[in-house]
Amino acid sequence: MQALTNRAKAVDRRPMTLAEKMYIPAIAKGMGITFKHLFQKKATIAFPEKKRDFSPVFRGLHVLNRDEEGRERCTACGLCAVACPAEAITMEAAERKEGEENLYREEKYAAKYEINMLRCIFCGFCEEACPKDAVYMSETFAPANYQRKGFIYGKDDLLIPHPKEGK
Ligand code: SF4
Ligand code: SF4
Repeated sequence: MQALTNRAKAVDRRPMTLAEKMYIPAIAKGMGITFKHLFQKKATIAFPEKKRDFSPVFRGLHVLNRDEEGRERCTACGLCAVACPAEAITMEAAERKEGEENLYREEKYAAKYEINMLRCIFCGFCEEACPKDAVYMSETFAPANYQRKGFIYGKDDLLIPHPKEGK
C-alpha cells in the first residue's frame, strides 16, 4: 500500500543487545536530555511570584473612568451595552440632582452599572463604543473566585479611585 506521507518509519525488529535489554543506553540518553534542559532558559515562570509583561494589545478587566475633577464620566447612554456581543453589561440610569455636580459629569449618570465577567469575552467593543471615554480596559484580569456572583462587577469594583480623595 502506498504511504500517504513520507513520515512512516520501518520498525527495527533486530533482537535487543544485552545493554539494550538493561535499558542503559535509553536511560543515558534520557538523562542527557534532562541535563541539557537544566542549563537552558526556562520556558515557564514562577507565577504568581513572577508575572509576565502584558502584550501592548492586551485587554483586561474594565474600569470606569472619572474626569480630572473626580466626577464619574459615564452618562448611562447604553452604547457599550448595545455594542457588547455577549450582553454582559447592564445599567440603570438616574438624573443628577442639584448639588451633585461634583459627583457626576453629565446630567444623567449610571446609578447602577454591572459587567458580568463570566459572559465577557474581552473583545473591547464597549471601550470603542463609549463616547465619553468612561469605560476602558486595564492591564489586569479578574481574579479567580469560588462564587459565580463574585464575577458580577458593580460600580464599586469598576470605578477608578477619586483623584483627590483617593477612594
Ligand atoms: S469587552 Fe466585549 S464582551 Fe466584554 S463587556 Fe465589553 S463589549 Fe462586552
Ligand atoms: S460607559 Fe460609556 S458607552 Fe457605556 S453607558 Fe457609560 S457613557 Fe455610555
